[in-house]
Amino acid sequence: MKFYKPKSLLELFETSEKIEGKKYFLAGGTDINVQIKNGIIKDESIIFLNHLTELKGVLQSDNHIIIGALASFRGIIESKLLKNKLPFFQNSLQEFASPLIQTTATIGGNIANGSPTADVVPLLLVLNAKLKLFSKSKLREVPISEFYLGYKKFILKRNEIIGAVLIPENAETGYETFYKKIGSRKALTIAKLAIAGLKRISNNKIEDIKLAVGSLNEYPRRLYKVEEYLKNKTVDEIDFFELESQLKKEITPITDLRSDKEYRYQVCVNLIRTFLNH
Ligand SMILES: Cc1cc2nc3c(=O)[nH]c(=O)nc-3n(C[C@H](O)[C@H](O)[C@H](O)COP(=O)(O)OP(=O)(O)OC[C@H]3O[C@@H](n4cnc5c(N)ncnc54)[C@H](O)[C@@H]3O)c2cc1C
Repeated sequence: MKFYKPKSLLELFETSEKIEGKKYFLAGGTDINVQIKNGIIKDESIIFLNHLTELKGVLQSDNHIIIGALASFRGIIESKLLKNKLPFFQNSLQEFASPLIQTTATIGGNIANGSPTADVVPLLLVLNAKLKLFSKSKLREVPISEFYLGYKKFILKRNEIIGAVLIPENAETGYETFYKKIGSRKALTIAKLAIAGLKRISNNKIEDIKLAVGSLNEYPRRLYKVEEYLKNKTVDEIDFFELESQLKKEITPITDLRSDKEYRYQVCVNLIRTFLNH
């Protein structure tokens, strides 16, 4: 295995372009080190990212909150800017792993690892976040809803990295918020299911609603059909048989070591009902 520690972003891309075989970036290392230890990653090249200060920190610019891809979850949980502007996002991440893992794990790594259970992704989906993708000659912005293509498959090109996450600074304003992560225990648990929601009620009707789930598909996703069904209805007008038929078009619950698909499906329905006060 070969390790590289580029001195700058430019050197990072030059190094990346020269490597011919499979390569990985090492940010916090909390996912990749497990794969190295278990022998899943053996001969590949590893490029260190974590020392690159350009990709760290949380700042505000052009009506957006910009979170560097190398911002740690501890940095996010302690950010005064996020406490002020996006408190729902910040509070929901208190349940991420343990204090030790929070210190090293990064937001970019959580997204790029591509796990269906990645805690941050359902939250970013309902907040209409975008990703800034960097390469040597190009910078592009893509909605996080368009980032994933399948299980651990995404639109990142070979010599491209996630540089930052952009969240509209008023994404939570005027919305009731909801986040539940269901695991085997309260702390240090990987989600069996996670759901994030925002809803705005006007004259008793659901004027706007955004829902996203993790651990129910090959990657976390928005429930656009369920959202459409719910818009402009009062709680009493919701027919749950119809809601479930829309939900079934959007999710394909899986059975794995942590849980079975029937349990995941029923918990998802129950949590949507809780959020809707039904
Ligand atoms: C004990 C333990 C508990 C955990 N608990 C949770 C939990 O509660 N919730 C949860 O969601 N996850 C959890 N995880 C998983 C892990 O901590 C997170 O997914 C974490 O955010 C990964 O970030 P990292 O910086 O450590 O990524 P790394 O391990 O450094 O990298 C992961 C992958 O992402 C790629 N990558 C990293 N950064 C970038 C970038 N900027 N651009 C492009 N590619 C990049 C790497 O090539 C690699 O393939 C846990 C892990 C452990 C070991």
